[in-house]
Amino acid sequence: MPLTRRSFLKGTAAAGAACAGATAATAEVREEKTLPPKALGLLFDSTLCVGCKACVVACREANGTHPEFNTEDKLWDTPLDLDADTLTVIKAYREGTGVTKDSEKDGYAFMKKSCLQCIDPSCVSVCPVKAMTKNPETGIVSYNPDNCIGCRYCVAACPFGVPRFEYDKTFARLRKCELCKPRLAEGKIAACAEVCPTGATLFGPVTVLRAEAERRHKLRPGERAFFPRKTADSTDVHEKPAPHYVAETYGLTEVGGTQMQLLSGVRFEKLGMPVLPKKSFVSISETIQHTLYKGMIAPAVLFGCLLFLVRRATNSEQHKTAEHDKHVDQHKGDE
Ligand code: SF4
Ligand code: SF4
Ligand code: SF4
Repeated sequence: MPLTRRSFLKGTAAAGAACAGATAATAEVREEKTLPPKALGLLFDSTLCVGCKACVVACREANGTHPEFNTEDKLWDTPLDLDADTLTVIKAYREGTGVTKDSEKDGYAFMKKSCLQCIDPSCVSVCPVKAMTKNPETGIVSYNPDNCIGCRYCVAACPFGVPRFEYDKTFARLRKCELCKPRLAEGKIAACAEVCPTGATLFGPVTVLRAEAERRHKLRPGERAFFPRKTADSTDVHEKPAPHYVAETYGLTEVGGTQMQLLSGVRFEKLGMPVLPKKSFVSISETIQHTLYKGMIAPAVLFGCLLFLVRRATNSEQHKTAEHDKHVDQHKGDE
């Protein structure tokens, strides 16, 4: 009998139930991972993004993926979300009259979606064959198709809905952003940061990107401010009145922190980013696994635990944000 989504989820329900019980019984969780010593990442500042989608095109070039035509005339590359051919996408928030940039009311804003290179990644934890790995130095989360058995545990376990499967291919792979690893090996920076005309996407060491985010939080709205392009320490800067930022940097603490950092003038849940706990799901599920199996390898139980935690967080988020979902639309560059 073929494995359907229903039977797959059913098969992990028992593990999820064990997880629910064990969560209540667990007194301590395993230590959370910290930022790798040479962690690399991206800083996306929604207030600087003009929705040009140059990053989407550059990402395609860098990864050899194909445009997606979702309009009837088939003239425009209009990806609706991440998929196996689209490793980064620009989405738009719009409310009311939709005329004021970075305003929740009667405004609009853009959000860049791609792998956040989690510090303690669920996709790595649930993979039973080490097809997903996290580099101990740079923290880049990589995928090895030669190891992959196509179970798609990583797809279900990622709290951000990032890895996508090539359903239409005979020898299918998972696809996700790997922070332009081949470009980095050539001494280049991430393609999306390289081409961004406004510096909305910056590439670099996470500590430098976090310091830059902190600098921006300290700016007074309206004051004269300078914003670099490509990297946070670049001399290629442009001037612009400082925007009003929401007080948090997304990615600083979510599920143990991520190597992609996000800044915005509109609350992140309005931009489609899930509201997540600070503690990494993996630190909880791996503790439960060790508690139940005392060191034996039990990926199904681990996966069930992670799925339970992700679905619980997602359900709670869906409940909180159901009323705004209708406002988060795919940005069409020709609108
Ligand atoms: S290239 Fe920069 S400004 Fe253009 S859509 Fe991408 S992040 Fe936004
Ligand atoms: S965002 Fe998802 S795919 Fe990327 S590292 Fe985190 S868990 Fe893995
Ligand atoms: S880092 Fe590279 S693979 Fe990742 S979104 Fe940017 S261009 Fe795409």
